[in-house]
Amino acid sequence: MSSPTEDQIREALAAVTDPDSGQDVIAAGMITGLMVKDGNVGFAVEVPPEKGRAMEPLREACEKAVDAVPGVLSVTAVLTAHNEAPKGPGQGGAQGGGQGGGHSHGEGHSHGPAKGQESGPPEIPGVKAIIAVASGKGGVGKSTTSVNLALGLALTGRKVGLLDADIYGPSVPRMLGITGRPHTSDGKRLVPMENYGVKAMSMGFLVAEDTPTIWRGPMVMGALEQMLSDVDWAPLDVLVIDMPPGTGDAQLTISQRTPLTGAVIVSTPQDIALLDARKGLNMFRRVDVPVLGIIENMSYFLCPSCGERAEIFGHGGARAEAEKLGIEFLGEIPLHMDIRTTSDGGRPIVMSDPDSPHAQAYQKIAIRVGEQIDARLASAAGAGPKIVIQ
Ligand code: ADP
Repeated sequence: MSSPTEDQIREALAAVTDPDSGQDVIAAGMITGLMVKDGNVGFAVEVPPEKGRAMEPLREACEKAVDAVPGVLSVTAVLTAHNEAPKGPGQGGAQGGGQGGGHSHGEGHSHGPAKGQESGPPEIPGVKAIIAVASGKGGVGKSTTSVNLALGLALTGRKVGLLDADIYGPSVPRMLGITGRPHTSDGKRLVPMENYGVKAMSMGFLVAEDTPTIWRGPMVMGALEQMLSDVDWAPLDVLVIDMPPGTGDAQLTISQRTPLTGAVIVSTPQDIALLDARKGLNMFRRVDVPVLGIIENMSYFLCPSCGERAEIFGHGGARAEAEKLGIEFLGEIPLHMDIRTTSDGGRPIVMSDPDSPHAQAYQKIAIRVGEQIDARLASAAGAGPKIVIQ
């Protein structure tokens, strides 16, 4: 049987009525990010934040309606809650994506900077700063760095949260040694999980593990907004977001729709050579998010038996590249087995062996990132002229 078309799916969804507005869900503009691929269908149902999970029956009704379309092999609908943010430039794409017949990914390309403008994304009450940890591609150690950076920031006395937005490979709960699922106190808001004094949530909790990768990008925004607005993060000094790897549409949209204080780019020496890190930098510049600096991961190899340092990837590229690009070089982390075993085993090195040279390397970076955050916050609060940090 041939794969159903988007129009057929929309037609089926048009038979589902939103009990609130009395309109069908298509007419009400509630369906976004519709993807149809070889009979597999995915989409988000956008509901007002205060309704949250009370709209679960509507989500189920949507899934059921689509499931009945001939040729549909699987349906995944996720409930997403949007804050009624002012819809300025760069803010309207997701809604439009559900109605205009096209996919919602790719939105935002033609839009200008959102930060620092009246129409920028809404702040999260009680969360003082948000930083994104990004990479040009997967496997460079972005999650490992996010976790150790978050713990390092916590060791400086800050209240820290860690949001795992890496929908392609959510690993933060495992790295923080967290198991189970988040609870809800009142059926609407989620209580973040916690370990080592750091609050943590993963979008992996909202996007089912078997969701095909192709849908994850379009789903990311709804899930992200839910993770930002429906989770009891406050009070936090800093929320660290472990971004999905790469610099595509999902990453661009997150950067545009999150009130980011700044971003940190994780890169390996080879990655620098391939200019992947530069793509990350350009992405943040495009949406006017300050890049706080570059971290070089797997910078050099420290032999666990003899302690010899070998620069197998030609160490030092990130520092030179950062200089060339005019951004700060935050530091380098060696390639070492202990870093892998501790983070993969749920005992990140910054906590499990804080005096080790690797933990110290992370800690130094965390201290510098903390200083950068404080400077940005002071400057945003209008304490005199804008501080430009080199
Ligand atoms: P990403 O988030 O960029 O995909 P991860 O943080 O998941 O990458 O790291 C990929 C793998 O590399 C993991 O097994 C991790 O433990 C390991 N790893 C990351 N950084 C280091 C390092 N500096 N030394 C040794 N192993 C590392």
